[in-house]
Amino acid sequence: MDFRSVVALLEEKGKVVHVKSEVNPVHELAGIAKKFEGTDKIVVFDHVKGQKYPVVCGLWWNRDIIGTQFGVSAREVPGLFAAAGKSFQEHPVPPVVVDNPPCQEEVSLTPNLYDLTIPTLALEDGGAYFSNCVVIAKDPDTGVRNTSIHRLMVTGKNRLGLLMDVGRHLRSYYERAEAKGQSLEITINNGVDPAVYVCATYPGTSISDDELGVAAALNGGEPVRLSKSRTVGVEGLADAEVVLEGRILPKVREPEGPFGEVSGFYAQKDDRWVVEVLAVTNRKNPVMSTLLPGKEVWNSVGCTAEAAILAAVSKMVGGVKNVHLAHGNCGFFGCVLQMEPTRPGMGKNAIMAAFSAFPPMSMVTVVNSDVNIFDAEDVMRAITTRCNVAEDMVIIKHAACHELNPATDYGVGTKFGFDCTVKPGQEARNKKVAFMDVDLGKYDIV
Ligand code: MN
Repeated sequence: MDFRSVVALLEEKGKVVHVKSEVNPVHELAGIAKKFEGTDKIVVFDHVKGQKYPVVCGLWWNRDIIGTQFGVSAREVPGLFAAAGKSFQEHPVPPVVVDNPPCQEEVSLTPNLYDLTIPTLALEDGGAYFSNCVVIAKDPDTGVRNTSIHRLMVTGKNRLGLLMDVGRHLRSYYERAEAKGQSLEITINNGVDPAVYVCATYPGTSISDDELGVAAALNGGEPVRLSKSRTVGVEGLADAEVVLEGRILPKVREPEGPFGEVSGFYAQKDDRWVVEVLAVTNRKNPVMSTLLPGKEVWNSVGCTAEAAILAAVSKMVGGVKNVHLAHGNCGFFGCVLQMEPTRPGMGKNAIMAAFSAFPPMSMVTVVNSDVNIFDAEDVMRAITTRCNVAEDMVIIKHAACHELNPATDYGVGTKFGFDCTVKPGQEARNKKVAFMDVDLGKYDIV
């Protein structure tokens, strides 16, 4: 489903609020969006000061909204994504290039990024940012396509600063192109099918995989539609609202940042990679897309990572019931795993299995089935009352974690886990207190 159809679907379901007042794209727009973060409504900014195009925020900040987009309940989302990943591994459906793509209804070969609705989000951000664009590139050696999401700061009419985190396939592509003195061509796609958004965040696809096949699997086997670009050799998404064509320049670094990141802290300004934009193409009257770094990322990465962790840990350790990448762990820096250990010590094995299943994590908490893993208070109580830290904590120093977690040294840090499962012989002391379940409607209460 293309982006505008998703917005229309949510509109039909009563899950859209429109901000009809004119708002400033600098800080004010994000300030309003922040008030709605996590609710079951997305926000459409109809009138942005100095801009022609509306912008939408919030497609991923609530799991009910995510479920609605995919036609399932919130709880079914991780399973749906897991099934798509499995189908992709078994029968990948490659994308197709189509003629007359909607994303090229209007084409400008003299790009001016200031004509696009690109908000400046947090108060100390270094400029206007694309926070959720899907970047497509091709491996300079093998030609395999990669799809990923990166923050991009507007630094000129046709110039962007870019972050490529350590270990990302795009960075590997770029480093190999740069070593040959070449730029890396990319397309930057704004306002995309949510299935494509999922594949761009899907963990665990290999560098030899074209992960656009995950989107095809999510769309019932329909191949992703691509457009032949006007100025670069890599395709855009045919149904995207806006596509920028450009190249990441070799041997060029310019200041980028600060940026209020997904961790809830500012990423610092530094000299980073630079994109020269060669063309801007768009649908007529595009509906642009942005996100607040926070819940939207925690959920989008969370739903795919939960699926991957559940599948991998269940294979390695028995008795696994469920997993949640809690917002208190910034989504992908940690998880809570629910299990009934099949024999003593398996709680700790589950911690190690979860770390191998999803390397960005620093923290894993393992609890029994009587703990509600979606309730941070219940999980904290389990840590406090069921974890004898000197015995039940796992610490792994100098491990690869996530670069954006400030507790790490730019990605190298300590992984730690709390085994809060009840130890054999301790069951009676850990029996949760229960009271009679009554129906208040049957009583005369004033
Ligand atoms: Mn990839």
